[in-house]
Amino acid sequence: MTISSPYSMLSVEDALDITLEQTRLPGAVRRPLSKVRGAILAADIAAKEPLPPFPASTMDGYAVVAADGTGDYPMVGEVSAGALADFSVQPGTVAYITTGAPLPGGADAVVMIEETEKLQQGNGVPTIRINQNVAPGTNVRPIGVDVEAGQTVLAAGERLDPAEIGILATAGIVDVPVYPRPKVAVLSTGDELVDPAQKPGPGQIRDSNRAMLLAAIRAAGGDPIDLGISGDTQEALERRVRQGLAEADILLTSGGVSMGDLDLVKPLLEHAGTVHYGRVRMKPGKPVTFATADLEEGRRLVFGLPGNPVSSLVTFYLFVVPALRKMAGWPDPALRVVQARLAQPLPLDAYRPEYHRATLSWDGRRHCFLAASTGIQASSRLLSMRTANALLALPQREGVMAAGETVDALLIGEL
Ligand code: AMP
Ligand code: MG
Repeated sequence: MTISSPYSMLSVEDALDITLEQTRLPGAVRRPLSKVRGAILAADIAAKEPLPPFPASTMDGYAVVAADGTGDYPMVGEVSAGALADFSVQPGTVAYITTGAPLPGGADAVVMIEETEKLQQGNGVPTIRINQNVAPGTNVRPIGVDVEAGQTVLAAGERLDPAEIGILATAGIVDVPVYPRPKVAVLSTGDELVDPAQKPGPGQIRDSNRAMLLAAIRAAGGDPIDLGISGDTQEALERRVRQGLAEADILLTSGGVSMGDLDLVKPLLEHAGTVHYGRVRMKPGKPVTFATADLEEGRRLVFGLPGNPVSSLVTFYLFVVPALRKMAGWPDPALRVVQARLAQPLPLDAYRPEYHRATLSWDGRRHCFLAASTGIQASSRLLSMRTANALLALPQREGVMAAGETVDALLIGEL
């Protein structure tokens, strides 16, 4: 008798569509500027005041009446950044001014210091020689030239990185509505697993997936929760899964989704919620499972990731990262794709599209990304993800893809 999976095999595209369809956007929360880096803004932001709020000098030099032109003029005062002049500049006079200082009344331009000479005079009022003719407005930032009052400076859906945070600070906005970081819990399953700090006994191995996934969650903008290791018993597993659902928006389990007797995750998820898929045509990661559970506190996503470390991380990037991004408010949550040329020939799989781990680098001579394979692609061999910044989407086909051919590369790290 052959045992077949009760789950139909979906394409990666269909599985991803279902995942994103089932992912809900949470309500926005207000957060202070110091806590929003990487978050997505939930509302448009308008500036209340213009910037600069006064006509400001862009140079150290002399505030002048432009029509006066070159010549020797008495200096009637000084104004530096942070204060208003208590005098005005009449035609035939100049005033010393520093960068960022408000232009004194009467002046309409600034001559930079390099185009002037200071001629000392006996009575204490220096005479300034102006060596350059300037047009009105020269070296002056008019009111509102950088930002107009009422202008939308940031739009809903934009990500808050350093520049955007600077813009908010300029506008005097010290807390903003953003989507919260999704809380993502990780549970490793398997009787064979011990904590990385322990020496494995006979038949045991160290749990690599939990530390790896917790780090991957943080890198993807989530808040990780460590649920530890569960043995392969119904009770232990169920207790941890309930805990994960109570504490997190997204629960990740690793292991226990294959076809063995002790692969208990799928039946458990059928019981705890709705399983949307349990098999995907891909290599590695075929048994990846996705379920939702609707609690009073809201919708939970559950991903049953395969136990093999590479399968676990590849399915995390392909399915969990887009879901996490959508939940964090990203308007376009998909992994970014670039085209890359193969540095060496790669074997193809006749039955499943393969996500081949590769390191992309820019080839400055040929003006393209070059994809270097990380070597043997066994799903147990985590070294095949070492230094990988891309998953090459290799087509399902017999044969080999030749060196120099172009493939889609899904970015999982910095280029
Ligand atoms: P499973 O999906 O539970 O059938 O596990 C598949 C393979 O991955 C087995 O060789 C497991 O020992 C291994 N494995 C499962 N979970 C982990 C883990 N957390 N860390 C390292 N290897 C694991
Ligand atoms: Mg297992």
